[in-house]
Amino acid sequence: TRTPVNVTVTGAAGQIGYALLFRIAAGHLLGADVPVNLRLLEITPALKAAEGTAMELDDAAFPLLRGIEISDDANVAFDGANVALLVGARPRTAGMERGDLLSANGGIFKPQGKAINDHAADDIKVLVVGNPANTNALIARAAAPDVPAERFTAMTRLDHNRAIAQLAKKTGVQVADIKRMTIWGNHSATQYPDVFHAEIAGKKAAEVVNDEAWLAETFIPTVAKRGAAIIEARGASSAASAASAALDHVHTWVNGTADGDWTSMAVVSDGSYGVPEGLISSFPVTTKDGAYEIVQGLDINDFSRARIDASVKELEEEREAVRSLDLI
Ligand code: NDP
Repeated sequence: TRTPVNVTVTGAAGQIGYALLFRIAAGHLLGADVPVNLRLLEITPALKAAEGTAMELDDAAFPLLRGIEISDDANVAFDGANVALLVGARPRTAGMERGDLLSANGGIFKPQGKAINDHAADDIKVLVVGNPANTNALIARAAAPDVPAERFTAMTRLDHNRAIAQLAKKTGVQVADIKRMTIWGNHSATQYPDVFHAEIAGKKAAEVVNDEAWLAETFIPTVAKRGAAIIEARGASSAASAASAALDHVHTWVNGTADGDWTSMAVVSDGSYGVPEGLISSFPVTTKDGAYEIVQGLDINDFSRARIDASVKELEEEREAVRSLDLI
């Protein structure tokens, strides 16, 4: 029998946490044959709510769930962690400046990065979901100099999945028929969903669509603003779809991309496609044996170049801002 994998979830008592934990325990994060120990990190006032969720997890009697620990101490919650899902973050509230948001999140992600550095298992893989996700990942990574930089990633898989869903609806195909979707840049309104390399049932997606106005005026804004549309419709922010994308991100990272396909992950740039080294930016990546590689050699047309550059510029500005706040 396999040794359980230790999975730490921060913000475990939140909306995404509630949607995420049950599916992790059901085997959707790592596989149906991989037992897990859950470590829930919460801020002190939310510990009781986390205990309530843990009671429900017990009551679901998941065969793969071998243990649950709850803590408000990052040093405890990340001890021996193999996978860390950093979901809890400080939301932007009315009147908050960007600097305030970044410094509030620096206060969360810097100590968490240090705790991961000092206590996590050697094979730790980190996914940051809490926003601003790319820059929170940059902060955590900077605080963890002993952990290989490539282990810190941020989530653009929800954007990727949303882009596939929109394209499938537009062209009347199944989501499984769409391959090689790419999200570039920041998980923010500047993100760029790129269909120029995507394929629909083996054909170039851009040729199947053959409508640049739809791409520029409908597709890109629909994907980028989908979060706001969900809030408008549901009266609450997306939670189950965000949780599902987090599971997809880690599952793909651990178990690999299919031949001929790739996924989107925000990862530390090695300078590929003109993205400055060290920024955590979304790229097309293939994964195999628990490691990923940025897909190389794609032609970037002018339409794409302008949009990638705009999103990367925003990431550079965020990096400058957290530098000036001494967070990295
Ligand atoms: P959610 O669980 O709904 O969201 C958590 C984070 O995920 C937010 O930063 C949110 O960003 C982000 N997110 C990323 N992608 C998406 C998406 N597509 N849709 C929605 N959210 C997305 O927040 P809750 O307020 O319900 O829960 C947060 C929990 O985190 C609370 O229980 C709080 O106590 C906890 N927390 C824990 C910390 C810790 O463990 N140390 C630190 C801080 C908070 P956005 O705000 O932009 O929607």
